[in-house]
Order: sequence, then structure tokens, then C-alpha cells
Amino acid sequence: MPELPEVETIARGLAGRIVGKTIASVEVRLPKIAVAPAGVDFARALRGERIVGVSRRAKYAILELSSGRSLVTSLRMTGRLVAQESGAPSYRGTHIVLRFTDRSRLDFADLRTFGRMRLVEPGEPWDERLGIEPLSSGFTPEGFIGMLAGRTTPIKALLLDQQRVVGIGNIYACEALWEAGIRPSRPAKALTKAAIRRLHHAIVDVLSRAIDMRGTSVDDYVDADGLEGGFQNVLSVYGKLGEPCPRCASPIVRTVLAQRGTWWCRSCQR
Ligand SMILES: [Zn+2]
Repeated sequence: MPELPEVETIARGLAGRIVGKTIASVEVRLPKIAVAPAGVDFARALRGERIVGVSRRAKYAILELSSGRSLVTSLRMTGRLVAQESGAPSYRGTHIVLRFTDRSRLDFADLRTFGRMRLVEPGEPWDERLGIEPLSSGFTPEGFIGMLAGRTTPIKALLLDQQRVVGIGNIYACEALWEAGIRPSRPAKALTKAAIRRLHHAIVDVLSRAIDMRGTSVDDYVDADGLEGGFQNVLSVYGKLGEPCPRCASPIVRTVLAQRGTWWCRSCQR
């Protein structure tokens, strides 16, 4: 499931491939994937739009259009957003195809069909329920301490809550908690300030390293060029049941927390 580093990698890749291109036509093969404001025809509205930028907010990739509208894409479980040359074969489960005037394409594929491509009008508040960006200067240790104060929620569940800190999913929550030496089930309010500072540092560190390595390909994720990331090769605990902890050599365990598989070390995560 694409998290912040994967979507950031896709957005950066797309920026180099499609900015400046003009949409000639749009093919919607599965209508539920294409979302537009009431009374607006998704495909017709996009025709003639130029891509002026590509950015990311939380786990959403955003195509900025010349009219001021945006195309906000959620990849959810299995979504792929891939820039393709004219004539290149489509991935299985391609539901939306943007064709540019130079005959190249942007394909949106999603086998499980939970993803969406949403046309957003200028100023439409699509992201008001989203929390703080963990790689922004606004995400500070002191602010994080305040966010966790008094919360009885297990720290891992809180990390997954997109209304607090955005972009962290199951992989990076497990990895950041391991790096900080914190037991995933600990109630947030039971963490010392020193532990929260360690966790803040671990979140920023893990996400930054994962972006440097172009994301984690443990399932369907590929970047804007259709290539796998590299962070799956350096994971410490995620998916590592029974393997030795890289810090203390105890076997990694898997438990279920907030309905999600959770990998961690009983010895060095307290
Ligand atoms: Zn350990």
C-alpha cells in the first residue's frame, strides 16, 4: 500500500515526465474511479487542460491543471500511476487513461479498485480533515508531544491516524517504532517526552531514507516509470516474523493491533 515515500516518489517522477503536457482525451473505463463535482463530466472537463505541476499531500498525488483545478489521486491498496510512451502496453486493471497531445499517456491502474481520481475545483477544501505533514517544518518534537498528551490510544494506531500525522501507513509505523525502541501497543500518553522525541526523529528519518531509496515495493507499488523501489531491502522488522532483530538478535514477532499485522521486537521495544 503506497505510503508517503511511495507517493512522493511517484509525484517527483511524474513531475519530470508530464509537466507541460496537454491532455488531448480521457478514457474512463470504470466510472466509479473517476470522481467529479456534480454536473461536471470528468473526461470532457479535462480535455485541453495542461499539467502545470505535480505535488503530494499526505498519500495523495496531485496533478495541478492550467485552469486552477486539480486532479487528486488516491492509490489506496493497489493503485498505480504510470507515465507511458505512445504504444506501451497498459497494466492489468487500467481504469483511466489520460492521453496527451504528444501521444504519450498517464495510466491509472488499480486491481482492487479502491483508488480514486478526483477532479477538484479551485479552492475546494478536499483536504481539510488531513493532519500535519511529517516532513514539514511544522512537525516539531514539541508539537508531537502535545498531540500525544493524554491520549490512551496505542501509539501505533495513533501513527496510522491520518487526521493527526499524515502519510504513515503500516510499514513505516512498524519501522519507526522499532527504530525508536517503542512497543507498538503502548498508550500514547504513557510515553516519556524523551521517547516521543526519539519517535519524532525516527519518523522523519525512516520516511526520508525511504524517499531516498524510492519507496518500498512489498506488494504492487511501482514508481511513475513502472520501476520498483529499494527500501524493501533494508526493512528492519516489517514482514520479518522470526528473523533476528537487527539491534538485539531476538526473533521478530507479529501481533495484530488495530486490525493490522504489527512486526516488532519484544526485547528492545519497551
Ligand atoms: Zn531487538
